[in-house]
Amino acid sequence: MSRNPHLLLEGILITCFCVGIHNAFIYIRGEYEFVARRLESALEEARSQGLLGKNILNSGFDLEVLVHRGAGAYICGEETALLESLEGKRGNPRLKPPFPASIGLFDCPTVINNVETLANIPGIVQHGAEWFVGLGRPRDGGTRLFGVSGKVRNPGLYEMPVGSSLRDLIFEQAGGMAEGKELKAVIPGGMSAPVLRADEIDLPLDGDSLTEAGSMLGSGGVIVIDRDTSMLEVLRIIVEFYAHESCGQCTPCRIGTSWIRKIVERISRGEGRPGDVDEIIRLASNIQGKTLCPLGDAAALPILAIARKFRVELEAPLKV
Ligand code: SF4
Repeated sequence: MSRNPHLLLEGILITCFCVGIHNAFIYIRGEYEFVARRLESALEEARSQGLLGKNILNSGFDLEVLVHRGAGAYICGEETALLESLEGKRGNPRLKPPFPASIGLFDCPTVINNVETLANIPGIVQHGAEWFVGLGRPRDGGTRLFGVSGKVRNPGLYEMPVGSSLRDLIFEQAGGMAEGKELKAVIPGGMSAPVLRADEIDLPLDGDSLTEAGSMLGSGGVIVIDRDTSMLEVLRIIVEFYAHESCGQCTPCRIGTSWIRKIVERISRGEGRPGDVDEIIRLASNIQGKTLCPLGDAAALPILAIARKFRVELEAPLKV
């Protein structure tokens, strides 16, 4: 969106033309003001070239695109919470069904896609579906953007074919571990993806392989954790985030995340008790699969993975 906004606009135009849509919205977090302004300028450029508005390129097809800045809630990335927010309401996820394809924005049938999907469309139309599939894996074609952060030499955004090696992404593309640092763990797909230990990273970056490894490709946000980083602190940050971002509609998510946060904070203060890690696992298991939207699982899964894979480290500061 910041470097090549017209690629996204072209994807939106093609999609809307195919589906017969005349109003499109780009929903973006409020904090990304720079990107929103860049999108606004791109929309102006497209309008001035007759690529938006009434009777686009004399085709008889009309399309308006609007950039809408949200108020910065993580939950508004969930499609129905996004729709609520776009309608001017609090961004609470809706019960599904009905799905947005039948009843969506202002009760109209609505297509919702993420930016990366829409930005792939011009390339697919130009070069064909086989070309796209051939870039990746048969069941998971194309390329993906991976945002590598953490203790690597060259953190940044890397576009790689789906199925590329996670080890290669970290040790070749991102330049390997930062000076004097040793790999301890990797979160492969954004904060909601269960963590992998250092000995689990020899896998291809595609949906099936990561699911088989007990994690997920998710947003492609690869967080590299070194041996000097405390997994208790990683857990504290994750729990704090989800407890804060829970919209509060379902009890397991609202109470469960806050309860786990209290336990993790207690351990961090050096006041943990025997059985605390088991209690964290029990609470997270009671969130998993029992909530209205995927945020519940997104919170429970990384908590469970850290508690199970790094139990010894979490239990080290507990009082006996
Ligand atoms: Fe809200 Fe959490 Fe329930 Fe999702 S799972 S609807 S974020 S309380």
